Amino acid sequence: MRLRNISGSRELIAASDYVIHEPQEHRGKWKEVFGSDNPIRIEIGMGKGRFIMDLARSHPDINYVGIEKYSSVLLRGIQKLEAEPLTNLYFIRMEAEEITSVFAPGEVDRIYLNFSDPWPKDRHAKRRLPSREFLHRYDEILKKDGVIEFKTDNRELFRFALDELEPAGWHLEQMTEDLHRDAEMMRDNVMTEYEERFSSMGNPIYKYIIAR
Ligand code: SAH
Repeated sequence: MRLRNISGSRELIAASDYVIHEPQEHRGKWKEVFGSDNPIRIEIGMGKGRFIMDLARSHPDINYVGIEKYSSVLLRGIQKLEAEPLTNLYFIRMEAEEITSVFAPGEVDRIYLNFSDPWPKDRHAKRRLPSREFLHRYDEILKKDGVIEFKTDNRELFRFALDELEPAGWHLEQMTEDLHRDAEMMRDNVMTEYEERFSSMGNPIYKYIIAR
């Protein structure tokens, strides 16, 4: 059977109520978007959104924003949210470099980075989400005692991320090089799609929690 009228991802996203379409307009006013004073936590590079949906479902007293740059990936998250609407979760399709134009200083309570792209070439280091350039951006939007949680199975990216902390003015709160064997850090662990895939292949998962 031929399928008719299949719109592109961008059109479907533009029509979705689960997506914030002009996010800069809400800078400093995200409480109004959610209609509550609850803390706002964001995942940058959410992929298909399983992690942030699981968090939003189990923490109705926290508000969540999932950020993803690719329409085709984000669309999968939107479809899941349509099947199971959650009032404390919105998505944004954007490039994370623009994050400080979307959130005001101190507006974000916590930032999650999960299985961020490694950008292995040295000349692309600035594009890595745990790079010092991004840490400076996070410093602007994150409240004073807020933390960043980062997970990856990429050893080089994790090493790089650790080396970036001090120059950018951050310090480790917690760290493991094998999350799934660390009972304490596993206690409240919520698996991401990539985490499930890579840990089932036997890859150790690295995680840090950092603060200023
Ligand atoms: N967090 C998910 C997906 C990991 S893949 C999981 O753990 O399963 C990394 C995702 O981050 C991809 O979907 C990619 O498109 C997105 N991403 C990478 N760099 C980004 C950027 N600069 N801004 C927004 N999204 C980004």
